[in-house]
Amino acid sequence: MNAIHQPPQPTELTTAKLLINGEFTESKTSHWQEIINPATQQVLGKVPFATADEVNAAIAAAQQAFKSWRHTPIQARMRMMLKLQELIRSNLKRIAQVLSAEQGKTLADAEGDIQRGLEVVEHACSIGTLQMGEYIQGVAQGIDTYSIHQPLGVCAGITPFNFPAMIPLWMFPMAIVCGNTFVLKPSEQDPLSTMMLVELAMQAGVPAGVLNVVHGGKEVVDLLCTHQDIKAISFVGSTAVGTHVYNLAGQHGKRVQSMMGAKNHVVVMPDAHKEQTLNALVGAAFGAAGQRCMALSVAVMVGETKHWVNDLVDKAKTLQVNAGHEPNTDVGPLISQRAKARVMELIHSGVEQGAELLLDGRNVEVKGYEQGNFVGPTIFNHVDTQMRIYNEEIFGPVLVIMHVDTLEQAIQLINANPLGNGVGLFTQSGSTARTFQNNIDVGQVGINIPIPVPVPFFSFTGSRGSKLGDLGPYGKQAVQFYTQTKTITSRWFEDDQEASAVNTTIDLR
Ligand code: NAD
Repeated sequence: MNAIHQPPQPTELTTAKLLINGEFTESKTSHWQEIINPATQQVLGKVPFATADEVNAAIAAAQQAFKSWRHTPIQARMRMMLKLQELIRSNLKRIAQVLSAEQGKTLADAEGDIQRGLEVVEHACSIGTLQMGEYIQGVAQGIDTYSIHQPLGVCAGITPFNFPAMIPLWMFPMAIVCGNTFVLKPSEQDPLSTMMLVELAMQAGVPAGVLNVVHGGKEVVDLLCTHQDIKAISFVGSTAVGTHVYNLAGQHGKRVQSMMGAKNHVVVMPDAHKEQTLNALVGAAFGAAGQRCMALSVAVMVGETKHWVNDLVDKAKTLQVNAGHEPNTDVGPLISQRAKARVMELIHSGVEQGAELLLDGRNVEVKGYEQGNFVGPTIFNHVDTQMRIYNEEIFGPVLVIMHVDTLEQAIQLINANPLGNGVGLFTQSGSTARTFQNNIDVGQVGINIPIPVPVPFFSFTGSRGSKLGDLGPYGKQAVQFYTQTKTITSRWFEDDQEASAVNTTIDLR
């Protein structure tokens, strides 16, 4: 029998602190929630649901700090990001331990979560060129036009449980490096690793009030969405909550980006590299226990690839289900008992609605972690578009398989799905890939890549039902989101210049 390893324990961080005006403080609320290790049910700490006064104080601190922060030279802001990236790099393993303990993902995946966020911080270090405006001389006689990108003011971010490092790092570094101040509301399910990153930001020299943190749930989120001093809201999470946030904050005149749920398909063509493809499908469907917004949910097998299904199942059977900190774990636990119950219920619905259950992860046993929220890799074959396992985001290690005869049918199927976060195609044909990328109506496309998350020089570009708001997180779009473009048309007169006549017509130049 394999040895059981002691899960890592956060030491100092047993209650998640608020950060208001540069001070890490204990909330005065009476409403607390436990932070639980999903593999063991061990309580790691407590998170407060901040009071309205505390949220208002955080926003007021951000509003006050904006007055001077917006005038801080861009090189000074950039240098803080340089320092922050260095601090994150040197603390990466320590944060990954806590992240794995509170979220459940494997240590390697926890490091990846931080690494992907770190890349956004690295990109923020080039804000000097990213935030540049444009200038054109001589739009008319003696007239020049130029644009500048000015910070908006106080911005807020609301983040989900599945990437407690990467997603907060999509938001606050880009917002503050552009000259805004920020109020972050991390996921209440796993806020400890997020707080470690926030502490590093303060160590990097971010001034009091520029970055603030409040914890909580709906009440705190709704207050952020309706507060008059907040100019923009970045949300990442489920479709139901994201739609609510988009509507509420929009009604209150805020700029909003809302990145939401997904149902990601991968199309497998008969000319695909079989081994590479099946390995990629298994990794993308079951890695992080399927709790990635870009996780593979639906494999669309074209033509003869229907005969590959048994090999796919055999590969999935080799995955090790275990606690995230155990060596060689492939699939960790789900975030909560509630999440597990939901996934189990959806698997049950698949059976009830007539899908063929090829691999059933419901009765998986994990020695030493019998209380963990584990579901093993689960595969359904012959799924149709009427089934709940096709229509709902499962957010667990469940892959559904569908069959079509042609690429065109695959494209039609995917384009009819309301969600549009990510999609993949496996083929060895350039022309098939080109047809696919041109005709598929999904925001992020992978060609022989199952999880096509763009690097931070680009932006995260989920589309259709997976996103509300025009501009995505990080990259150039984040700079546009967190700034107001102002266009200036100017003319300077010589002191002795003869005045032109009054002109009451539109100047057509
Ligand atoms: P969630 O919607 O439950 O929670 C997200 C945030 O909203 C949390 O901070 C939470 O405290 C808050 N919240 C929860 N209920 C609320 C309510 N009723 N009113 C206001 N705020 C509320 O999402 P989650 O379960 O933490 O994360 C998983 C979801 O996030 C999945 O649907 C996944 O696809 C999605 N996600 C999307 C992306 C993307 O970029 N599209 C990235 C990561 C995760």
